[in-house]
Amino acid sequence: MKKETQFINAGRQAKWTKGVVNPPVERASTVVFDSVKQMKHATANRGNQVLFYGRRGTSTSFAFADAMTEIEGGAGCAIYPSGTAAITNAILAFVKTGDHILMVDNTYEPTRDFCDNVLKRMGVETTYYDPMIGAGIEDLIQSNTRILFLESPGSITMEVQDVPTLAAIAHKHNCMVMLDNTWGAGVNFKPFDFGVDISIQAATKYIVGHSDVMLGTAVATEEYWPTLRENSYLMGQCTSPDDLYLAMRGIRTLAVRLKQHQESALKVANWLQTREEVGKVLHPAFESCPGHEFFKRDFIGSNGLFSFVLTRGDQQSLNALLDGMKHFKMGYSWGGFESLILGNTNVGRIRTVTSWDETYPLIRLHVGLENVDDLIDDLSHGFERLNQALENRND
Ligand SMILES: *Cc1c(COP(=O)(O)O)cnc(C)c1O
Repeated sequence: MKKETQFINAGRQAKWTKGVVNPPVERASTVVFDSVKQMKHATANRGNQVLFYGRRGTSTSFAFADAMTEIEGGAGCAIYPSGTAAITNAILAFVKTGDHILMVDNTYEPTRDFCDNVLKRMGVETTYYDPMIGAGIEDLIQSNTRILFLESPGSITMEVQDVPTLAAIAHKHNCMVMLDNTWGAGVNFKPFDFGVDISIQAATKYIVGHSDVMLGTAVATEEYWPTLRENSYLMGQCTSPDDLYLAMRGIRTLAVRLKQHQESALKVANWLQTREEVGKVLHPAFESCPGHEFFKRDFIGSNGLFSFVLTRGDQQSLNALLDGMKHFKMGYSWGGFESLILGNTNVGRIRTVTSWDETYPLIRLHVGLENVDDLIDDLSHGFERLNQALENRND
């Protein structure tokens, strides 16, 4: 089945929909049973998508978990109330005091904060590594290294990792591989074809796609699914069926949305490349993006999120650019239908083992579903404000 068709059908088995098109919102805390026999059956099968108690899920969450498993391709999907909860719970399920993990240096900042605070307090050591380390990862693996954590492309600076090489080396040393696959969105990168053991997404981003739900998913292989699932239960992780219903809606249009995000973002990036205010374009589909060769080899497509580095400007002139934007709103997050912009004058602050040598600010864009010419116009006016602010200073 081609991905467009898969997204229409994922999670819509008759046992969940009961005849209507969309798996309905099934709200529950208590589940009541007609007989002791029924109750015993539910208790014995409470890990197997059987109604038992609200925290263990209802048909809405069972359908969504099935959909994510079909899309990503593992053995099962654990659902969390945010992407960050998915990351932290997936890691916690597999480490104990005295263990060591390897974390990519350009990881999403809250992931780093979790390692530096919670894992540290637990006595789990984190070593950060260069996203471009490739086979050099072998030198960093210790006898107690339990997890190699990847994020590709990485947050803000967009380096694409050599996932199959990293995964093969990790497995040689009995170390499991987790990937933050949020950028891939279950569309552009197939984690289990490249040796990933657990694929994590902030479903908050493209799966939900409308900037109105927080949600996380972790899909695991046969080998790791039972432990991941059990730990999710032990930690009391559960999610509102209303939110899951919205996420299921997001899946239906995922392919067509991403296609448009990709097309518009490529047009904006190509236009940016012609501008003298713009230096490196950090879009995985561009040669100027570190790891571009792995993107070409391993990815099916791109989306609306990328960064670029300016050839001029400081905090004040960057502010002039940002403050006047009409369509690109300032905001963290991405993956909704709307365009977003982030300015960053201190990229080096959120990395510890790789340096960031650019002199001028970085801008990250999420190119939304607005008309792309309006978006280019918006950026063009932004550059005028940047230049004006610099000129006023020189007067
Ligand atoms: C947003 C994001 C997360 C965290 O997701 P939340 O749902 O906001 O907690 C994790 N990883 C990446 C790459 C993200 O962009």
